[in-house]
Amino acid sequence: RAKALGRARYHIFDPAMYQEAIQLLEMENDLRRAIERQEFLIYYQPIISLTTGMIAGFEALVRWQHPVRGLIDPIDFIPIAEETGLINDINIWVLQSACQQLRTWQNHPTIPKNLTISINLTARLLSHPNLISQVDQIIYETNIKSASLQLEITESVIMENTEAVKRMLQQMKEREIKLVIDDFGTGYSSLSYLHRFSLHALKIDKSFVKRMQDNQEDMGLVPAMISIAKSMSMSVIAEGVETKEQLEELKSLNCEFAQGYLFSKPLEQELVVDLLASNPRW
Ligand code: C2E
Ligand code: MG
Ligand code: MG
Ligand code: MG
Repeated sequence: RAKALGRARYHIFDPAMYQEAIQLLEMENDLRRAIERQEFLIYYQPIISLTTGMIAGFEALVRWQHPVRGLIDPIDFIPIAEETGLINDINIWVLQSACQQLRTWQNHPTIPKNLTISINLTARLLSHPNLISQVDQIIYETNIKSASLQLEITESVIMENTEAVKRMLQQMKEREIKLVIDDFGTGYSSLSYLHRFSLHALKIDKSFVKRMQDNQEDMGLVPAMISIAKSMSMSVIAEGVETKEQLEELKSLNCEFAQGYLFSKPLEQELVVDLLASNPRW
């Protein structure tokens, strides 16, 4: 017994693990401070309508402006924020700030009034009982149309199908808030099941768009996903479009929307105004 305990203790004090635990704790403390000090900022990436060639809206993508480490991408802090539950506060902040930003753009004399704003919602927040009242309050305060708000969720959220999520999806629908399945194709979802919810659009994950030309074997996946969306009367957005060839292929498949570096990287708020002022057409 003593031996087992000794071994367990040895593991607890494993220097590498200890180091890792310390780093996680530091990150958690840093994140808490970041929320208080509002160290987050939002980059906006345009979503292009392939029928008009014009910007239809923007996706809000969070960044962390760390005082020492500089700009940190979501992949490097969202997992920790998820683990510690801090993600809810960050996500609500993004929702609030991006809606406020949309209001500012809409007040601008030369910016189109019908732009949409897309926000990524973590699974955790979707089952939070206060989410809908917070959404209502944000819409009320910013005075944006609820129909201009698109919430991106992942397949797994739908498939988990808890009562809380079902109720939430229903409440969003009543408000005409649009729900988009992000990273479509990377999760496990049953199509007949997805069909039961009134979802607005499927967003094809960038990994499939990337393989559209590279790999003959995978060629058929993007067309198949577009047909699936159409057969369920859903809109479709292609993510991670980087080349003209991909764009032409997507157009020929009647994909409705596209997003990717070919059009623009995610931009800081000031640059969005410049981009819109240049009135680009693709
Ligand atoms: P996502 O929602 O699937 O966002 C798309 C990601 O692809 C973004 O990465 C974007 O910068 C990147 N991307 C866009 N176009 C291209 C392209 O042409 N090529 C390539 N290689 N990448 C492209 P980002 O900004 O690093 O965000 C990563 C993920 O972090 C997002 O994936 C989303 O799941 C999550 N995320 C971002 N902001 C938020 C947020 O406010 N709340 C939550 N819960 N998650 C967020
Ligand atoms: Mg997204
Ligand atoms: Mg995605
Ligand atoms: Mg993604």
